[in-house]
Amino acid sequence: MPEGQSPVADEAEQFEPVWVRPAEALARHQVGGFFIIFPTIRTLQRLEAYQTVDDVLKACASEQPLWTSCPRAGLLAGKEARYMESDAPYGELALTCPDGQIVHPLDWQTAQPVKLLKNVMRLTAPNPGMMTGPGTNSYLVGEADSGYIVIDPGPNDAGHIQRLFEATGGRIEAIVCTHSHPDHSPAARPLQALCVGHPPILGLASAATARPDAQFTPDRSLSNQELLTLSGKGLEHNLRVILTPGHAANHLCLVLLEDGLLFSGDHILNGSTTVVSPPDGEMTAYLTSLDLLSAACDEHQIDFILPAHGYVLGAAKQAIAHLKAHRLKREAKVAAAMKAKPQGTMNDWLALAYDDTDPRLWPVALRSLQAHVDRIRVMQAGFSA
Ligand SMILES: [Zn+2]
Repeated sequence: MPEGQSPVADEAEQFEPVWVRPAEALARHQVGGFFIIFPTIRTLQRLEAYQTVDDVLKACASEQPLWTSCPRAGLLAGKEARYMESDAPYGELALTCPDGQIVHPLDWQTAQPVKLLKNVMRLTAPNPGMMTGPGTNSYLVGEADSGYIVIDPGPNDAGHIQRLFEATGGRIEAIVCTHSHPDHSPAARPLQALCVGHPPILGLASAATARPDAQFTPDRSLSNQELLTLSGKGLEHNLRVILTPGHAANHLCLVLLEDGLLFSGDHILNGSTTVVSPPDGEMTAYLTSLDLLSAACDEHQIDFILPAHGYVLGAAKQAIAHLKAHRLKREAKVAAAMKAKPQGTMNDWLALAYDDTDPRLWPVALRSLQAHVDRIRVMQAGFSA
């Protein structure tokens, strides 16, 4: 508007017209007493970055493609909670409520399974923590008429195992472990023992490099690209196995072909970064496996990633690209730290390369730092050879 305008409200959707700067409006909203609806808040948050109207117009003139957003809402403690594309629960809402219904509960709870699709449930184990986020997600793929495959039965927790059994009515056809870590595989044997049909435990045996608490031997080893099929009464669900070493030497992912879903285990998480801990974890293998998963997104039209920790991720291929960029950016910081302090210790490099990370996470970050250092040294040796 030109200078000197007086706003007049239509008294239907607008009341109390007032000129106010974006930052001030947001501040007044924050302390209460200045009601603004969600889209206006988000718009003001974008405008806040600019000093003048001209700056805004200039920024818009070069923005290609123009920014668009379709927020989604779910329920937290029974109340509506709204999320942008960049927020952690967004993908889960896109999967469960594609038409925008506000019905999906986002509260983490372990008492009962959460329905994600008619043939996919998630039951979270009661083991929340710094390394496990809200807890380990066990996934139940299938229906009563086809039987179920349990992906990642979780830690050896009697209550959780009992709930997995009950949620499937005991009709478990196979138990698959994405890898052998103690929050993923120890429930496999006790769950198998509960089932009358003695369903096979499938996965890859832990490697010689696995820690003592991550030992695992499946009843049968899965091979790359193997297909696991559930069928019954005209239903069919097919899971394709993709071997993905990196987070652990015996890590694998599964693609539910009919629904375009990727069960990513710990290779891709929502809300935290995967730890790559040598020697069982290996950074080059981790990045190569990410590329394999990206290719699988194209091949199988995968839209959603169901991680072992955190909500469902949407925009699968972009999420993988983002993750790879994050890893390579971290690697560049590690390489710069090694260059800046050639005689430095791991802790010197840690402080430089993870200066943007909460120091409480540093003991864990040290493991991924080691993986980056190993990879950088191998690459340097390659160049000088
Ligand atoms: Zn793990």
